Amino acid sequence: MSIHGETQGAGRVRGLKCRLCGRRYPKQALNFCTEDFGPLEVEYDYVAVARSGLSRQAIESRPRTMWRYRELLPLDGEPAVGVQVGGTPLVRADRLARALGHRGPLYVKNDAVNHPTLSFKDRVVAVALSKAVELGFRTVGCASTGNLAGSVAANAAAAGLEAYILIPDGLEQGKVIGCSVYGARVVAIAGNYDHVNRLCSQIAFRYGWGFVNVNLRPFYAEGSKSMGFEIAEDLGWRAPDQVVAPMAGGSLVGKLHKAFVELKQLGLIESAAPRMFGAQASGCNPITQAVKTDAAKVRPVRQPATIAKSLAIGDPADGFFASRLLRETGGWGEDVDDDAIVEGMMLLAETEGIFTETAGGVTVAVARKLIEQGRLDADGTTVLCITGNGLKTQEAVADRVARPVVIRPTIEEFEALVGSPAADLVPAGA
Ligand SMILES: *Cc1c(COP(=O)(O)O)cnc(C)c1O
Repeated sequence: MSIHGETQGAGRVRGLKCRLCGRRYPKQALNFCTEDFGPLEVEYDYVAVARSGLSRQAIESRPRTMWRYRELLPLDGEPAVGVQVGGTPLVRADRLARALGHRGPLYVKNDAVNHPTLSFKDRVVAVALSKAVELGFRTVGCASTGNLAGSVAANAAAAGLEAYILIPDGLEQGKVIGCSVYGARVVAIAGNYDHVNRLCSQIAFRYGWGFVNVNLRPFYAEGSKSMGFEIAEDLGWRAPDQVVAPMAGGSLVGKLHKAFVELKQLGLIESAAPRMFGAQASGCNPITQAVKTDAAKVRPVRQPATIAKSLAIGDPADGFFASRLLRETGGWGEDVDDDAIVEGMMLLAETEGIFTETAGGVTVAVARKLIEQGRLDADGTTVLCITGNGLKTQEAVADRVARPVVIRPTIEEFEALVGSPAADLVPAGA
């Protein structure tokens, strides 16, 4: 069975539109306005989407992947890449809530178990590479802080596309191996992410390749909305009161919000007024700094220094829009240091059994800080977005976890270690 109806993108997706001046462009691999260099965004015809008969029932009847919201994603045809992506659990996190002093319902959206590469980046890559195939690209690439590298490499391999992955030198081993294994050409740049990103723009232009977060960025970014659609559906078709999301380039937090607004516009949820909270590491906090100082511009961080490497983008492409959104929705931006990040990782693992990477530690630790500050309403319905898996950044906690004690295989040695069994624990008849 086709997972697509017959109304295809040709009608639903109008094209691209500049977020600054509103100038329109046809669908193509282009990420900035040629007039004012403003970022381009996909523009939909929501009347056409509504007319296509999109309903809660129609969505619920489809496979539990991100493509059940296909009318609100920017493809013209079937996805060629990442057909299984999305549908990750929304976990009720009562034990974490107690530890954080959160009294209302607290949820974790767990994209640490996304398919196939254990981060939310599979969502954006599924859209970007499917679009790359539609546009006729044979070679694709990305500028990555780690998770995007793995996702582009894996999904390109599955789609038979050639992939060039550019990363800053010095990424975690789990992330480097986790993209090289798929046969992609991996190039490490002696520099930080912003150097990598600038080089990728030049390569995309000169070689005519499809870079998912450069010239394909308008399509790529739309994939993040699927995380918001799933949250609303799993809450029983309503938006949460508050969302805490990690920020690197600042795209995800904006697209989560856009997802709720679109669902409201289509009558699929009643209201969409979530307060959006953005989380960064103090060692790379251009967006939260702009929020706290109410700055009109985001000042780039020249030398990012944090263990949260996946969030270490000093000059975030969507930083301006993200900082404005956090303020406009009544949310806030906050950042935490490396010790707090590790504590956040350990707390989520110990209370909910979820091993997240450093970015998830940022989210949990920022949530704790916001509750202490009283900025996050501890009685509201809150969703923490966990975007990556701890198995990829094990070095962050390696020195913090207890090492196993080695004993000989005798009950005496075990008892010497643990103590005598309490009387009420000894089974009857023993
Ligand atoms: C890329 C990434 C983010 C943030 O994404 P942006 O849309 O660039 O803000 C968050 N968490 C993880 C684990 C990521 O890899």
